[in-house]
Order: sequence, then C-alpha cells, then structure tokens
Amino acid sequence: MTKKLALLAALAAAAAFAQGRKPDGPQPPVVDPGGAGRAPSDAVVLFGGADVSGWETRDGAPSKCEASGGEMVCRTGAGHVYTKERFRNAQLHVEFNVPLMADQSGQRRGNSGAYLLGRYEIQILDSWENPTYADGACGALYGQSAPLVNASRKPGEWQSFDIVFHAPKCAADGSVATPGRLTLFHNGVLVQDNVPVSAKRGCVEEGPLMLQDHSGFKNPPKTEMRFRNIWLRRLPD
Ligand code: MG
Repeated sequence: MTKKLALLAALAAAAAFAQGRKPDGPQPPVVDPGGAGRAPSDAVVLFGGADVSGWETRDGAPSKCEASGGEMVCRTGAGHVYTKERFRNAQLHVEFNVPLMADQSGQRRGNSGAYLLGRYEIQILDSWENPTYADGACGALYGQSAPLVNASRKPGEWQSFDIVFHAPKCAADGSVATPGRLTLFHNGVLVQDNVPVSAKRGCVEEGPLMLQDHSGFKNPPKTEMRFRNIWLRRLPD
C-alpha cells in the first residue's frame, strides 16, 4: 500500500470512529458455539451419543450400528448407514476413531468414509504410517483430490473432520451445471481447500450423510469403527 493510500485508510477509520457507529443495522444471529462434545446451538445433531434413531440402512431399515457409551459403533457387516436428515450446502462435523489393524495394510486397514449426499466420499482410513495412493488417503476426496497434508493421528485416537460443502447445481438434463465445492479440516488442519467436487452417477443436489461399511469384497477384514459428536449446520446457497 502506498503512503497516500495508507493515510486515506487511516483518515476513513478515524472518521468512522468519530461518527460513533451504533449497532443499528441488522445483526448476525447469535449462536452458542458449543465446545468439546457439544454442537453449536443452531446445528442439527445427527449423532449426539444417546441413540442411532437418526440413521437407517439404504433400504430404510433401522441402522445396525449401536450406540454405546456415547459412541456409535459400526462393525463390518452392518452395511452403510445413512442419516434420515437430507442436506445441500452445510458445515459438518464428524469425530471418528479408527481401530489398529496391524495385520493389514493400505486400504485394508481401518477404512470407512463420510459420503456427502450419500455419494462423494471423504476417506476415513488409518493413514498413520500406512501409505496408500494419495487420493485414497485419510482426508482425500476419494478418487478426486488428495489431502494437502497427512494430519492423521494414530489408530485408536479420536480424530475429527470439519467440512464445508457446497452441493453441485444440476442442469435440467441431469448434468452438472456448477460443480460442488469442498473445504475440509482434518484434526483442525486444512487438507482440502475449496476443491471442486465432480459428480459421478449423475448430478444430485441434496442427500444424506453416509458412513461407509468398507466390505462387500472377498474376505473383508473385521473392522470396528467408532463415531461420536456428528452434526451439521445448513448453509445458504
Ligand atoms: Mg473408505
């Protein structure tokens, strides 16, 4: 900034201060931000610890994951689980705990996923000293965008995703008019910076959050994934 611009900016700030600006315009809504284990006051709680009544199978049957000790426990064979809640644009928070499966490697280690709109997978994987293809690592937008860094904690430790998602906009013929966008913090570290989300299997603008049961292939290893404190806040278009 030139000296002249800096001077003008300082004068404008001084003038605003002298006018004594009052809080007379529209104010942002007040939100209790919550804290550890507590969702913001305007959030939709998807799993709060007590029960899994907000979740179902693909066919709409009750979820086979179990609520236990404030956690949602999902074992191999339970199948993917879907929120009954549907969303478009949202801030989402998911905490997960991947088991240690030292006898496995790569994608066969503790593997799940948080699928936005039930189809765009943010990979949940034990990526602690467990190399795999980069766009399949923990925090990847699977098959599309590798995480910027590997911010994984050790298996058995609680980790978090904080997601900002803008859903794609669909054209009348079912193609994507505007791609979705994803920003993701893994354990508070930025790993996806406003990346485009390409549609596959057609364009959808709304859907559930899905948690993956990574099985359905030959001899899947037995995995016990744990989740807690899952919520979303709807965002405007
Ligand atoms: Mg996965």
